[in-house]
Amino acid sequence: MKAAVVSKEKTVSIVDKQLRPLKYGEALVEMEYCGVCHTDLHVKNGDFGDATGITLGHEGVGKVIETGEGVTNIKVGDRVAIPWLYESCGHCEYCTTGRETLCRDVKNAGYTVDGAMAEQAIVAANYVVKVPDNVDPAAATSITCAGVTTYKAVKVSKVRPGQWIGVFGIGGLGNLAVQYAKNVFGAKVIAFDINDDKLAFAREVGADATVNTLNEKPKEKAFEITGGKGLDAVVITAVAKTAFNQAVDVVKAGARVVAVGLPVDKMELDIPRLVLDGIEVVGSLVGTRQDLKEAFQFAAEGKVVPKVTLRKLEEINDIMEEMEQGKFTGRMVIDFTK
Ligand code: NAD
Ligand code: ZN
Ligand code: ZN
Repeated sequence: MKAAVVSKEKTVSIVDKQLRPLKYGEALVEMEYCGVCHTDLHVKNGDFGDATGITLGHEGVGKVIETGEGVTNIKVGDRVAIPWLYESCGHCEYCTTGRETLCRDVKNAGYTVDGAMAEQAIVAANYVVKVPDNVDPAAATSITCAGVTTYKAVKVSKVRPGQWIGVFGIGGLGNLAVQYAKNVFGAKVIAFDINDDKLAFAREVGADATVNTLNEKPKEKAFEITGGKGLDAVVITAVAKTAFNQAVDVVKAGARVVAVGLPVDKMELDIPRLVLDGIEVVGSLVGTRQDLKEAFQFAAEGKVVPKVTLRKLEEINDIMEEMEQGKFTGRMVIDFTK
């Protein structure tokens, strides 16, 4: 079967991979669609360590075609999502306190174990999440990482209805952050990006205001829009250090700044600003299985609508280049159905 595999030249090769027989608790999924996340780009580039030989993909959606011994939560024919959280240990302090994505023995799809950018994938049955029938399967791929990650990040931001939240970076993740913040949490949203097409898209999906941080001053604009107060919270999905630094400047005292994007860099924090204004800076990593169920439910209710464009597996290197250059809005999704 065909799989998109990281090559040692830091490109993606389409190779013919043979899958081993299923072990206890595993299932085999025939892929329908798999979204391309910017994290796939980081993994391919070796940003978090060498991943040569790994099959990419953690926005997979497909149908179960075989179950191994001991599988009780899913059956043949079920449509499931394959997220970044491939499997965790299940018994450590993180796994038993609702923080399974922080498990020290976690396996991640498309990073430490083979992922979903392939015609078929072996999954740990207990860790896949069923896709609701009324969510379009191609759109469901976006909820599987971009959606659950931003839904969780907005949760972590503690923004309340009527408050102002900023979203830095309006890519595959950011546009869904705008939608969850607005339509699920009842917040008012300012979108920040360096690309006018992305900002126009942010307005389309509900942003109350937009700021192009290349030619507008983010701090001044944010205070102007919020009547001199500053934002109550910020979620940063941008892949640039400057956005992380700007995010700290646009919030009011006591606000939370939630870091989601993964540029390989350090952010600068002004210590008096942090201490005297009681700013909280916190990282947020994908979401638990329960977060993903909730994120799907809001998509099923039509509150969050991913924008997806179907592409061929063979186009994966082009997609990554286009993504790096900010050439499209929404998500590119590999179509395995044809
Ligand atoms: P994307 O390429 O679709 O979007 C990135 C966006 O950032 C683009 O709209 C781009 O124009 C914008 N941007 C770039 N520089 C900017 C700047 N200086 N200021 C403001 N905006 C800027 O990527 P994506 O798939 O949305 O992923 C975004 C990041 O989130 C990646 O680093 C990815 O690895 C990371 N990520 C993190 C998690 C997590 O759990 N924390 C999960 C998924 C993805
Ligand atoms: Zn992702
Ligand atoms: Zn654990």
